[in-house]
Amino acid sequence: MSIASCKRCGRLFQKVTVDICPECVRKEEATFEEIKHYLRLHENATVEEVVEALGVDEELVVKFLRDGRLIASKKMTYPCAECGKPIQTGKYCPDCLGKMLGTVNDLKESLAKSQKKGPGYFSMRDDN
Ligand SMILES: [Zn+2]
Ligand SMILES: [Zn+2]
Repeated sequence: MSIASCKRCGRLFQKVTVDICPECVRKEEATFEEIKHYLRLHENATVEEVVEALGVDEELVVKFLRDGRLIASKKMTYPCAECGKPIQTGKYCPDCLGKMLGTVNDLKESLAKSQKKGPGYFSMRDDN
């Protein structure tokens, strides 16, 4: 275990898995319950409405949405973590997801290719 300073309030605490101290975790959980409750009552609330009604950080609302802990209402959108385009589920918009998956596939492909080629001396023998 290591000592870290809380990302939110700066207090020193024993870091386990999160970047914020137990006190802030507790506050965050309370806020989460508040937001969840608000969304149950207001099915079409937007992020802005939640922020205004509850006086919570927009960042926090978006974090819960990205983590999949909160389900966005029909009208609720929040920015894609990559390009900022409004999305309603997950962390990224379909475009960015596609790009990311593409990059992963490219990496896999180039890795597979470099493995197929094998060590250099094989191709030197082919020359005979
Ligand atoms: Zn804290
Ligand atoms: Zn995006």
